[in-house]
Amino acid sequence: MINKKENLMDKITSLAKRRGFVFPGSEIYGGLANTWDYGPVGVELKNNIKQAWWKFFVKDREDVVGIDAAILMNSRVWESSGHVSGFNDALVDCKACKARIRADHLIEDALNMKAEGMTPEDMTKIIEENNIKCPVCGKKDWTDARKFGLMFKTYQGVTEYDSNIIYLRPETAQAMFVNFKNVLNSTHKKIPFGIAQIGKSFRNEITPGNFIFRTIEFEQMELEYFIKEENWQKQFEYWQNEMTKWLDYLGIKKENYSIREHDKDELSHYSRKTVDFEYNFPFGTKELYGLAYRTNFDLMSHQNSSGQNMEYFDTEDNKKYIPHVIEPTFGVDRSVLAVMVDAYCEEEAPTADGKTETRVVMKFNKKIAPVKVAILPLSKKENLSKKAKEIFDLLKTEFTCQYDESQSIGKRYRRQDEIGTPYCITVDFESLDDEAVTVRDRDTMEQERVGIGEVREYLREKLK
Ligand code: ATP
Repeated sequence: MINKKENLMDKITSLAKRRGFVFPGSEIYGGLANTWDYGPVGVELKNNIKQAWWKFFVKDREDVVGIDAAILMNSRVWESSGHVSGFNDALVDCKACKARIRADHLIEDALNMKAEGMTPEDMTKIIEENNIKCPVCGKKDWTDARKFGLMFKTYQGVTEYDSNIIYLRPETAQAMFVNFKNVLNSTHKKIPFGIAQIGKSFRNEITPGNFIFRTIEFEQMELEYFIKEENWQKQFEYWQNEMTKWLDYLGIKKENYSIREHDKDELSHYSRKTVDFEYNFPFGTKELYGLAYRTNFDLMSHQNSSGQNMEYFDTEDNKKYIPHVIEPTFGVDRSVLAVMVDAYCEEEAPTADGKTETRVVMKFNKKIAPVKVAILPLSKKENLSKKAKEIFDLLKTEFTCQYDESQSIGKRYRRQDEIGTPYCITVDFESLDDEAVTVRDRDTMEQERVGIGEVREYLREKLK
């Protein structure tokens, strides 16, 4: 099997476009940096991941409920959370070629050390002392590192006064804190319990363009789990374990990710302990997900700024307190990317004329594969198409199916392999007589004859 290669990202990006997973954003106008659009296959994959997450972290649990909050929130939310004053990246400009680069990334890539959380002054010094070159033009002519806010601003109403500034949310988390009392009062949940949300977030990031890894508009799946302070270590361990189970459920191979704890100076202002789940992407080992103990920083800040009481009355202890929070956070787009990298395989496969060729196959976990079944009539002859469409109609209500009658059967198999379809059903002339079809398995390429009357049950069993 040929798998991880240096140009794996190029291969995945090109497959993504060719097969309709992900397209460059606004492409016909020359694109818009760091934006991507999900195509017909990509949207299915992304939806499957989101639905699986919602089932795993919300529906299958008694102690977690969901919300879907507005993206635009009162600006005071972002003042209280610390984002207006503190959510920024230190950037340096190359005076020679005008490249603008995140100072921490420049240091990390050049010196293989962690620089997140350092002051701009320290980063400027490190860049100078180590004579770090511009990765674009190779010169050493940098500006000092300066901070740039990461939140996108817009204006509410028709007048562009500063007092009308509102922000596009840079994380979904704050909506869970702001709605803490609403959820509590409407559900009567007892601590420990969690509030979850899936939704878009926006960050005005400078990125080295690693496909959908870091974009300016992305989706997050976040869970704020409210606890008693004294239980934080136990809960942290519990959620770290749940996140590991989720990766397993997604089908991410164990050898491709690791867990790294943040150093003290790397921690966010609100956190006392954070771990990153890091995935071994082709461009380096990078954060896939995070798990943070946020203390009661957020609820406390919102209580102080809004004047609204955020306390919880614990009937067990007969005590009021502001709950502490453990936050497992997941990027949807980084999940899609990790799943694609993990699934990508190249292997030798026999051709119809007895030779071999390299086939590209996305070995997605069947649960999240974008298309589950492809129905392929061997020819476009009317009687075959009619039979094949009947089978499509029979299966489409239960499985995501694709009907395809263009080009040779070999080409159609390769196409389905590239989008990771676990089962292809071929309808041939014999099918008209024996009421049976050939089912091909994506991974083994083995073919089995199955009666049309049994095919639904057969797939149900296989895809369970
Ligand atoms: P990084 O260090 O890579 O910038 P972060 O620590 O700022 O990430 P968090 O604020 O913890 O990220 O966000 C939670 C999750 O949201 C991340 O683990 C990641 O999966 C996802 N995420 C964050 N920023 C982006 C982005 N710009 N594009 C895509 N996904 C993102």
